[in-house]
Amino acid sequence: MHLIEIYKSVQGESSWAGLPCIFVRFAGCNLRCAWCDSVYTFSGGTKMSEDEVLKAVAALAPVKLIEITGGEPMLHERELLPLMQRLLKDRYTLLMETSGERPLQQVPGEVHKIVDVKCPGSGEGGSFRMSNLATLTSNDEVKFVLRDRRDYEFARDFVREHGLEQRVGCVLFSPAFRPDAVGRSADNLELDARQLVDWVLADGLNVRLNLQVHKFIWEPQMKGV
Ligand code: SF4
Repeated sequence: MHLIEIYKSVQGESSWAGLPCIFVRFAGCNLRCAWCDSVYTFSGGTKMSEDEVLKAVAALAPVKLIEITGGEPMLHERELLPLMQRLLKDRYTLLMETSGERPLQQVPGEVHKIVDVKCPGSGEGGSFRMSNLATLTSNDEVKFVLRDRRDYEFARDFVREHGLEQRVGCVLFSPAFRPDAVGRSADNLELDARQLVDWVLADGLNVRLNLQVHKFIWEPQMKGV
């Protein structure tokens, strides 16, 4: 499998934000979101065997929370599924960030899926594979990255139409961060977080405001954090 990096940091997003976490970042993505902050994963990477990944992860002990991410990790499904089984057997807690474009039926139920549903402003609206909805449980989270009111309304209507507040453990509404952002500032958000909070409260949505904590700790362009 081709990997970009394996490192430990704190989790920056989701209901797991703030916890020490090992990141296993796969190379390659089949989408091109307008606000993507992982463009450097689109090519390159190092070929690693399952044993080499396990060894690299073990070297980052005692952290037992792992996020599998990318790029799009599910493009490596054939190698990734057995790796997940071994990590679960070794008693790691596994999160997986995915765009939701690839089928998720084969992912073990113990893995906490954090699944993006791409909004129109991403330029990849409509990429979410609707059959993946049936794979989502209270173990999982669904994330919407929002650039403007149009994205917000799309996300709000999708959440309501598919009963996501009841179906999954957490629904995340994340203001998009400018891809060319410099400096650790809320000014880099494409959608004002305060505005988003007002909309969420006005509509009575039970969703979580998901600010990317790592972009307020380190410079936004920094890798490996
Ligand atoms: S799915 Fe993720 S990695 Fe791929 S282009 Fe979109 S934001 Fe970037």
